[in-house]
Amino acid sequence: MIIAVTGGKGGTGKSTVATGLAVEYARKKKTMLVDADVECPNDHILLSVKRKWFKNINQIIPKWDLSKCTKCGKCAGVCKQEAVVFVKDKYPAFVKDVCIGCKACIVACPEKAISESKKVIGKVYTGKNYNVDLVSGELKLGELASGEVVSELRRTADELKDTLRTEHVIVDSSAGIGCPVIASLINTDYIVAVTEPTPSALHDLKRVLYLAEHFKIRHGIVINKFDLEKKFCSKIEEFASRKRIPVISRFPYHDDFVRSNILMKPVVEVNSKYKDFFKELIINIEK
Ligand code: SF4
Ligand code: SF4
Repeated sequence: MIIAVTGGKGGTGKSTVATGLAVEYARKKKTMLVDADVECPNDHILLSVKRKWFKNINQIIPKWDLSKCTKCGKCAGVCKQEAVVFVKDKYPAFVKDVCIGCKACIVACPEKAISESKKVIGKVYTGKNYNVDLVSGELKLGELASGEVVSELRRTADELKDTLRTEHVIVDSSAGIGCPVIASLINTDYIVAVTEPTPSALHDLKRVLYLAEHFKIRHGIVINKFDLEKKFCSKIEEFASRKRIPVISRFPYHDDFVRSNILMKPVVEVNSKYKDFFKELIINIEK
């Protein structure tokens, strides 16, 4: 089973839920946690995993053979990223950092002066703790293609899953609803949407649940810090019941969660009473 943990808004406790879920699953089954929050991965910190480099993630970029170039400017004209700068009667200049590797310039060049090269845009790391196999992706600083990095990370996790005989995969997505989140959600069996009782979290939750419905993936809501604002929590419950989306767990607000971050331990290891919350969550996911 592949379970994605997401939520729309950042800071709702997504990674706490993803790591806790992975640790609880790993007590009985071979479990992999894929940290797909590639711009700011931190599951290795939450689980005290010393990550090891596993592979680089590359992106195709164009390479110019200026001896063939006739300075027509067509490569710059087709580049939507403005990664090719062209001034009349000069050779085109390439701004590598903003290139997304779409290859339009390669196709457009009438002189076949542009060929394929590659650049490193991210890395995959692996590690293990609490019986959880961690596969962690990281976008290179300054690079834009986080969606591509997540897609390649998922492909790598799929290959490793066969080698490691993984039974359960938890994918911890980034915040938002953009390319990297979509790449985290596709081909999963269940989406756990983590929210908190605030208007902005509910707004973002609705957007991410739209994705879950669009991709027809089973999903449920976890309300984190539900007891902080019970009035607004009932608004989320009303929304869930109107949409017939199950609320699969409610986590209280407690400094155990902060201590879990400071001690770099999953919350179930800080206070064993949270095991019951994660057990309930697993039962509801598997219903
Ligand atoms: S590969 Fe695409 S983004 Fe990169 S320079 Fe060529 S046209 Fe622009
Ligand atoms: S399209 Fe080809 S020939 Fe024209 S400027 Fe670009 S590299 Fe040179």
